[in-house]
Order: sequence, then C-alpha cells, then structure tokens
Amino acid sequence: MFKEIKIVRHNGKQFIPDLLKAQVPPPFRGRPEISALKVDEEALVTLCPTGAIGKNPVSIDLGKCSFCGECAFVFPEKIKFTNDHRIASNCRESLVIKEGEVSPVAFDHEAVSRKIRSLFGRSLSLRQVSAGGDNSCEFELNACGNANFDMGRYGIEFVASPRHADGVVITGPISKNMAEALQVCFDAIPEPRLVILCGVDAISGGVFNGSPALNREFLDKYKADLYIPGNPPHPLTIIDGILKLMGRKK
Ligand code: SF4
Repeated sequence: MFKEIKIVRHNGKQFIPDLLKAQVPPPFRGRPEISALKVDEEALVTLCPTGAIGKNPVSIDLGKCSFCGECAFVFPEKIKFTNDHRIASNCRESLVIKEGEVSPVAFDHEAVSRKIRSLFGRSLSLRQVSAGGDNSCEFELNACGNANFDMGRYGIEFVASPRHADGVVITGPISKNMAEALQVCFDAIPEPRLVILCGVDAISGGVFNGSPALNREFLDKYKADLYIPGNPPHPLTIIDGILKLMGRKK
C-alpha cells in the first residue's frame, strides 16, 4: 500500500489541470510573426514548399503552412514563430498572417449559430475520417483523449458510428480513394452536423495540393465550421479550437 502511494506521489499529476491556461514551450512552432524588414520577397516565396508565403506585403497562410520552419531559418530577422498554439479558427481568412500582425488568430464567435451552441455547447461527439492521412494528425487526435489532455472532461469524445456523431473531423488531403467513403460517412451523420478540418493537408491539400490523386469536391459542397492548422496540430490547438466552436471559450 505504502509502495503504491509512494509511486503516485513520485509520478505527480498525470493531467494538465487547466487546459485553457496551458502553454506549449518553445521550440514549438505556432503563430508566426512577420517583421517589416525589407528582404528578397521572391526568394522567400520560392523557398516555401507548400506555397504558403505571399508577397506585397509578405504573408503566411497557416492553412497551407507545413510549419517546416525553413523560412524562419533562412530569414530569421523577417519571420519568427511564436509558441502561441491557439491558431484554430472558423474563418479561413483569419489563417492568413500578414506582415506586422502580432495579435492572436481571430475566431468569429458571432458566426457560430445559436443552434450549434445550444445543441453542442455542453457535449460533442465526433466521427473521425482519415481521408488519405499520414497518421500524424490521427495520433494527435488520439492524444487529445489521453490522461494528459483528457478532452473528455469537456464532454468531447470520438464515437465509432457516424449515426452517433454530431460532426466529422477530416484529416488528410482527401484522396480519390477516400472521397466516396467520406461522403457516405457524412451522409450518415444527422443534421445539424459539423465539418472540422484538422491539419494542413485537410485544409488545403498541403504538399499534395493539386495532385491528380486527390478529390476535394466534398469541400466545394460543405463549408468547414472549423479549421485547425498544423502539420500535425498540437492537441492543445485542437482542443482550443473545438472549445471555441462549442462556445465554451471566448
Ligand atoms: S514554415 Fe510554413 S511558410 Fe515557412 S517555409 Fe515552411 S511551409 Fe512555408
């Protein structure tokens, strides 16, 4: 008995007591900041493998950024990545970080309908579909439910059947082979239903953008309710975004 108590005391707390106040320590790459310093913009744009960097003025689209860090490595005076992990948004335009911007990524709370808030504000069941994913986002979604992050404390859970789900979490760039399966799963979810895009591959196709092996027509038909950038996103980014969508966090 005393041995067990000793072990419990030695291990300390296995969970993060308050996820809303938790920080991810550097060198985690979260929201970037772009200085006004003049650089060779063409060289900056060219080095990005996913076409996430825009010019005149310089911007980074977090929906396309794979967070490889190459731009900050080559142009450290121009671009730096902060450890701000709260980068999920329901507004696609908010994911584009412009030169000189230092404010957090905006979330449009007014755009979330009353119906969504009243139905899903206290508990949310989600079905996950890996549509050509590489298992990285899927790992992080799994981690959201482990003892550390324990998103179940907010009533958020993953369910096996789409019939029991309130929405779908899509990972991967949506390959042709998975397009029909994704549609079948979504059709089985009762309305109103949410679409959450988890990871840069799901949001924009990532490095696979433009590949003939993809079929992203699903996203032409249904508007995403939440975009969670990252490659893969950190569990705290995922939980923070979902809580905002549920209206549990402002
Ligand atoms: S960190 Fe993002 S913006 Fe910078 S080079 Fe890599 S993919 Fe492009």
